[in-house]
Parts: sequence; structure tokens; C-alpha cells
Amino acid sequence: MPDASPKEQFENREFQTEVKKLLDIVINSLYTDREIFLRELISNSADALEKLRYESVVNKEVTGPDVLPLEISIELDDKEHTITVADTGIGMTRDELVENLGTIAHSGSKKFIQQLNDSDKKDFNLIGQFGVGFYSAFMVAKKIRVLTQSYLPGEPGCEWVSEGAGSYDVRTAEGLQRGTKIVLELKEDAYEFSEAARVKEIIRQYSSFVPFPIKVDRDQVNTIQAIWTRNKSEVTEEEYKEFYKFIANAFDEPLYHLHFTADAPLAINALLFVPENNFERYGFGRMEPGTNLYSRRVLIQPNSETILPEWLRFVRGVVDSEDIPLNISRETAQDSALIAKLQKVITGRFLKFLDKESQDDPEKYAQFWNTFGMFIKEGAMADFAYRKELAKLLRFESSAAEPGKLVSLADYTGRMKEEQMDIYFINGPSREAIEAGPYVEAFRAGGYEVIYTYEPIDDFVLSNLGEYEGKKLVSADSTGLELPGPGDKPGEEPLDSDNTTSLTAWLKEILGDKVSEVNSSSRLVDSPAIILNLNPMMTSSMQRVMQAANRDFGALGQKALEINTRHKLIKRLNELREEDPEFARVVAEQVFDNALISAGLVVNPRAMVERINQILEKTL
Ligand code: ADP
Repeated sequence: MPDASPKEQFENREFQTEVKKLLDIVINSLYTDREIFLRELISNSADALEKLRYESVVNKEVTGPDVLPLEISIELDDKEHTITVADTGIGMTRDELVENLGTIAHSGSKKFIQQLNDSDKKDFNLIGQFGVGFYSAFMVAKKIRVLTQSYLPGEPGCEWVSEGAGSYDVRTAEGLQRGTKIVLELKEDAYEFSEAARVKEIIRQYSSFVPFPIKVDRDQVNTIQAIWTRNKSEVTEEEYKEFYKFIANAFDEPLYHLHFTADAPLAINALLFVPENNFERYGFGRMEPGTNLYSRRVLIQPNSETILPEWLRFVRGVVDSEDIPLNISRETAQDSALIAKLQKVITGRFLKFLDKESQDDPEKYAQFWNTFGMFIKEGAMADFAYRKELAKLLRFESSAAEPGKLVSLADYTGRMKEEQMDIYFINGPSREAIEAGPYVEAFRAGGYEVIYTYEPIDDFVLSNLGEYEGKKLVSADSTGLELPGPGDKPGEEPLDSDNTTSLTAWLKEILGDKVSEVNSSSRLVDSPAIILNLNPMMTSSMQRVMQAANRDFGALGQKALEINTRHKLIKRLNELREEDPEFARVVAEQVFDNALISAGLVVNPRAMVERINQILEKTL
């Protein structure tokens, strides 16, 4: 590419604040992996070339590869200590240049910068995932020049120069060839990056899957291969790993990969990866989808939002289908019936794959579940179409498994008692809290398994599913569960039915609107009373979520109080009703509050302390 001949004076512009912060860290830190700058520049060039290839297919006006070959050429000068990375991609207009290399658009980047700032060991390996890869070049360069010519007809070429300290210069430049050329003037301690052997080694390590020729001083270093179109048996584990690192811009190793080919109903070559880490879980903000849609090896949609459902945004990979017309526009791909069909096939295959993996290697699947389970739950809540497949993938702790061990709904139904109709689950903050509470008493006594769920979303997921293999999913805090009563304990006689009727009526009167019903319960063993849900769509855990958001939410869920008429406290309360109605009232309110607390619901602490003091005074 001929150099620019200046036509006008440079305009000096400030970097956006975030960029300044980032550059400050990049320039003033010590790092171990600074050679990754080359991976970032090559990856930007490859993106620009992919876009050009696409444009030349859909837009005949654009000069195609037949006229100007699509490639990345790297030139080294070990006397001047420069490395130049040039591509024949789409290039940038002046506005794009200012926007792309002066500001940061990506939402997760601010967190990334903050984290870099806070940690002693600067890990720049992640830089490409946060949309700021270009700036990593300042790890090795004291000065960077960018010369770029947009593929759009009539746009002037542009030159950009910066030393990374606060500002950069831009001006238009004439005589450039389409694409972008980036010249790095290396820092003294980075001269190794102008040596051919070193640079070739880096390219082999990080960029061997770039689908365009990469030439170092005119010598092509990579062999181009679309490994997803190759036969499964010919691809090695090592190649899969390397390819994953390349397309996901990642440095971890994939947890799973699924490579498959289909001919009907659509011709598909797909290679999908599950990463090892879930950055969304670490609070880096929402993950962007990472599956690229190709048609006959031409990239149609990078990081496609439509090829997989949103809840599979953690998947990285390639889907190539020759049934997709090359000229399908990025916008119409959004609502094309063909893409919807493709999505369905691939999602189905992927979920089936996970199910099989979960059976073949449950331990590895547990690792997957602990890292990505949140996405499966999101799918089970959001996506009716796949709820059957997703239900198979859910895992929870349960009363029948050791702490830390996970069970599936299939495990559960496989060992259900013959007379048992429903699948029971209960939500609580922890296993200890659930097992100490009143809700599992009857199930324990009757030998029924209960699934333990620890996150509020779990109840939404299970209520949404409604059933599994014809068995209803029922929260253990619902009323009307048909459990054979555990109450045949000898020696503990329940209140007779007259007393029970008048006691429950009396309680309802005292508690008023706070409960919809008061009944006697056959499900309690050691607890005097329990709060149950009349509305199965509003379990206590859901109500806890609402309460956390809004303190006044207390009265909304329809609650029933059930009492254990075998319990000493309840029997004594029944007597107290006659002996000391005023005090009995105080005790009744406390019994109710205790039941609310066991359900994890909020009570009024001041009223409760006052009441307890009254009770203590009486008993001391
Ligand atoms: P990312 O590539 O992750 O978006 P970068 O900081 O590396 O973040 O680059 C910012 C943007 O600059 C890119 O998204 C792209 O639009 C533009 N860009 C960078 N390098 C090139 C290039 N070689 N050709 C065309 N555009 C480029």
C-alpha cells in the first residue's frame, strides 16, 4: 500500500475519558502476555476482511477479491523497529475512525477497565472480549499510525497518529488503497516484535484459524481451513481447542464442543463450544451472543442474535448452512422463517447433546450446571418451545441426595413412591434452613423426596414448567397436599373436632386479613403452625422477592395458616383462650409471626419484640 501524502494539517482530538483511563493502564503496566496485541490487530483485520467479502457478495458495486485479494500482510523492519499490519478489508471513514479508535462503545468495557485498574496483576488476555483490543497495541508501541481507506466510493482516505497519551491526530490522506494499515513504532523493550521468527511464532500460536492469508514479509504463514466443514474424524482435539480460542477470542479451554453435520431438513455444518467460564456470572454485564452464521464459508452474521435463542448467548461457534442465500440481508435474517427453522434444528441438537453429556459424565455436567445453569433456567422460563428438553437439563439438590450432589427430575421420578402423584420442591436460603423448617416435616416422616431450590428464580422456573413427564411440580408450601398424615404418633392426641373448629375460627378472627384461612393440619410433626400458599403461582419464595422490592407487599399473597392440633403449644393456647383471652391473643399473634419467619417472610420486628417481652413478663 503506498503511503499517504498529506493534504491538510492534523486535527488534534482528545480521547474519550474511558479510553484515556485504559491507555493509562496499558502504557504504565507490566505484563506477561503482551504478544497478544498481534492477535488483536489480526483479528480486527480479519473482521474487516469478512465484512468486505460479504459486501462484495451482496453489493456488486464493491470491488471483490478478484481485483484486490483479501489478505493480511505484515511487514517488519528490524532496523527502524517497526511492525506494520495491513489488510484489504472495508477500511474506515473519517467518522468511523474517530468513533472506533477514540471512544469505547461496548458496555462491559468499563467494568473491565475498572478491574484492570484494581488488580495488581494486569491480565490483558481478556481485552479482545471487551471491544478494546486495538488499544493493546500500546503495550508494545510508543507511537501508532493508522492509514485507512473505506471501501465506500467517494470517501477520502484518513491518517490517525497517537502516542497514546491523552490525544490523537487525524487528517485526510490521499493515495491509499482500500483497507487499513497500522504501523507500530516499537518501544525499546519490544524490539522482538520486528523479528520475523518471533512474529511467525505468535501468529501460529494465536491466529492459525484466520480464514485469510496472513503474510509476513510476503511469506504466507497460515493455512486456511474452515474446520467446521471438515470431517469430524479428521479434526484433532488440539485443533478444536485452538479454533475455539480463535473464534471466541478466549484464553480458556472449551468445556464442551459439538461438531455436527446435517443434510435434512437443512444442510448444516455446525461447530459449537461451551466455554469454561461465564463472565456474566462475575458481573461483567450481559454476554453478547457469540455464534457466527455462515453460508458456504461466507460470514453472513457475526455474533448472530438469531441463530440461537437468546438464552444460549454463552455458546460460541459457527453455523454454516448453504441453504441460507448469501444475499440475505442482516436485517431480514432477523425475521426470516428459514433462520427460525435453522435455529430450531440447532437448538434441538445442542440440547440433546447436553442431555447426553449429562448422562455420560455427570461430574463434568455438574461443572457445566454450576457455571451455566442460570442460562438453562432462563430458557426454561422464557422459552415455551424447548421446555421439555430444558426440563431434562435442570439439576437441584434434594432431600434424597447428599449435600452438594445434584439430582435431575428424571432421577426424582425414577424413585417416586408408587402412590405419589406429584413432584415436590421447596425453596429456602440453604439446605440447613430448609431442613430445620416446618415445610419438609411431613415429607420426611412419609419418606417422600423433596427437591431443594435455593434461588428465587427456581420457583418461577418450576411453576412455569408446571409438570415433568405427566407429574405435577408442586411447591411444598402449597395447601391441600395429599400426604398421608405422619400424625399417628402414639401418645399425642389431637384436639377433638369441636375444639379444633372453634380454635381455628377464633384464630381467623384475631388474625383478620393477614390470612385467608385457618385450618388444622395433618402434615406437621414438630412445629405448632405453618404458613401455606393458596395460590400455587405465588410461593413464599416468590413473595420474598416481591417483599424485597416493596415492603408493603406483605398482604398480597393469599396465605393460609395451618395449625398442629397435636402440639402442646396449640393445645395450651386452646385452654388459654378461656382462661386469659387477652394474653391468648398475644400468643396467637406470636405463633403466626413465628410461622411467617419460618417461611422466610418479613414481620414487623418492633411489634414482635414488644409482644415477646409481654410473653416473657407473664412467664417469669
Ligand atoms: P473490537 O474490534 O473488539 O470492536 P477494537 O478496539 O479492537 O475493538 O476496535 C474497535 C473498532 O475499530 C472495531 O470494532 C472496528 O470497527 C474498527 N477497526 C479496528 N481495526 C480495524 C481494521 N483493521 N479495519 C477496519 N476497522 C477496524
